[in-house]
Amino acid sequence: MRPFDYTRAENTEAAARQAASGGTFIAGGTNLLDLMKLEVMTPEALIDINRLDLGEIEETEDGGLRIGALVTNSDLANDARLRKGWPVLSRALLAGASGQLRNKATTGGNLLQRTRCLYFYDRAMPCNKREPGTGCSAKEGFNRILAVLGTSEHCIATHPSDMAVAMRAKEDSKFISGIGAAGEPTGLLNASCIIAVTAEVGQGASTVVFENIIKMDARVWGDEESTTIWIANRTVKPQLASMSIAVGTGGMPVYLPANGAADRPFQTLYGRPIVFTEKCPALGTTGDIMLVNLAHYYIGDGTAKNRSERSIGLKFDYDQTAFRVITYTGGVPMWRTALTPLNGDTLSPIISLATRS
Ligand SMILES: Cc1cc2nc3c(=O)[nH]c(=O)nc-3n(C[C@H](O)[C@H](O)[C@H](O)COP(=O)(O)OP(=O)(O)OC[C@H]3O[C@@H](n4cnc5c(N)ncnc54)[C@H](O)[C@@H]3O)c2cc1C
Ligand code: SF4
Repeated sequence: MRPFDYTRAENTEAAARQAASGGTFIAGGTNLLDLMKLEVMTPEALIDINRLDLGEIEETEDGGLRIGALVTNSDLANDARLRKGWPVLSRALLAGASGQLRNKATTGGNLLQRTRCLYFYDRAMPCNKREPGTGCSAKEGFNRILAVLGTSEHCIATHPSDMAVAMRAKEDSKFISGIGAAGEPTGLLNASCIIAVTAEVGQGASTVVFENIIKMDARVWGDEESTTIWIANRTVKPQLASMSIAVGTGGMPVYLPANGAADRPFQTLYGRPIVFTEKCPALGTTGDIMLVNLAHYYIGDGTAKNRSERSIGLKFDYDQTAFRVITYTGGVPMWRTALTPLNGDTLSPIISLATRS
């Protein structure tokens, strides 16, 4: 490890000042110290922020929680308010690392930890993230834990924090069912272009039948594009497993391979992958299974509205400065209405199955 200066910041003003002069914050140190030992990160000055007043979890007026950057992963995961209101976040935290590490690791450090890409840690190998311009070893190397979507030509690393993924999960849920008002995106289910394929005559309330699948497929726009996928609640799975197509007097399974349950299911319908998610409504309700071309759904971050602010007013009595960062994310379907072709039924990039009764 290379030599470095060490300072303990006594307040946020001092910490901000020292960081502006090139210092690096250290909180729990569970990621930073490893990187320093490997000389992947070589800060000349460390600023220990553990004495700052950032260890509280407070309720906000609009029903949220404000989590201090120094709240440990253990304290956050076990907070009764978090466990009740945001159980996915609590469970994601408890899924990470070990009890010992979670007792030291902090919220700020967790979100700002560096990627777990093996080549990032291996200084003998090229890595654009560690040394820009050297190349990306992972693209042709060991990349099983890295990203499939959302990559760039320079780097395919994923964000390593389980907690960050859980925070994004809330957004995904709104991209499916958001109402398009009260600060929510317009979710796929509330798209004005959605086509809800009607159930078959006499179809049972909690069922999905092969005719539904055939009819949904016939209505999707852009069915040749790789961005067209099925999304479904897991409660739909048993319906798919028992689904078959009539062949003469017999039948063939639709979702399971020909020799039945001995092999893995195909996980596709008409060659398109199925993603199972709890964010879709449960079996029997519109949205339990959808066929969507996601290239026709816009997601944007409100770069112009995103802001970071500081105030000496909030903690004036304590001679402290408060910082806050606010980011906005929105989502909206690209199409206003379904397309009416010259002949035939309407088409849309968003197809659902109507509620069965
Ligand atoms: C063996 C092992 C297993 C792990 N498994 C998992 C896992 O399964 N899931 C998972 O999500 N994580 C896992 N982790 C990562 C662990 O969660 C992180 O190391 C930890 O959350 C980092 O927090 P820290 O406070 O120790 O950060 P530090 O190591 O102190 O800092 C990390 C980075 O954040 C910066 N930083 C810290 N606090 C602030 C702040 N307030 N403001 C600005 N910058 C700041 C530092 O400068 C540094 O760059 C694992 C780690 C280890 C060692
Ligand atoms: S994906 Fe490539 S550039 Fe990114 S961290 Fe790994 S090796 Fe480096």
